[in-house]
Amino acid sequence: MSKILIVEDEEAIADLEKDYLEMSGYEVIIENDGIKGLESAMNSDVDLIILDLMLPGMDGYDICKQLREEKNIPIIMVSAKKDDIDKIRGLGLGADDYMTKPFSPSELVARVKAHLSRYERLIGSNQKSNDTVEIRGIKIDKTARRVYINGEEKVFTTKEFDLLTFLAENPNHVFTKEELFREIWDMDSIGDIATVTVHIKKIREKIEFDTSKPQYIETIWGVGYRFKV
Ligand code: CA
Repeated sequence: MSKILIVEDEEAIADLEKDYLEMSGYEVIIENDGIKGLESAMNSDVDLIILDLMLPGMDGYDICKQLREEKNIPIIMVSAKKDDIDKIRGLGLGADDYMTKPFSPSELVARVKAHLSRYERLIGSNQKSNDTVEIRGIKIDKTARRVYINGEEKVFTTKEFDLLTFLAENPNHVFTKEELFREIWDMDSIGDIATVTVHIKKIREKIEFDTSKPQYIETIWGVGYRFKV
């Protein structure tokens, strides 16, 4: 079920929008102030935002601008004044749609539906391309399970691949050998943490220019390993 965030300080309007959207099967949350609205939009897993322009705390322009730096979910901006809508449009803040109040709730629902399905199609088409991780000359294609170092493919065993991918996906984080062993090998698999050391050595031989001065996987003495960003 799609979750919709309404940022609107006029409670009667927010409640009306909420009722209609809920009747159409959406989950709805309301924030009545700009700062809480931005917080909620950034932190919760909302799929679409209905954003009023004039709000206490922070106005819709600033919310839209800040949100766009982090998220590409649909934003429908609303304002009581036609002039404001023209201004928002002119500013190119990245809103997907604009509505002048008062509008009919059923029109709002129709637009929400249209934007959500367009957004879902977009997400869907992105997911069809391979899932890759790229860091400084290393490209890990998770879908094809292939690794390229400066454009040249290198062959990795399953566990080497899993270990490299795990570290690269969690850069700047120190993991102990025990943590890595638990993450990559099955709990009941035979082996010990020395296996991790052996695998790190083999991975370094494939990805590092000089294994005595690792540029990617650093050894944090007495603790474990860290993938350098
Ligand atoms: Ca308002």
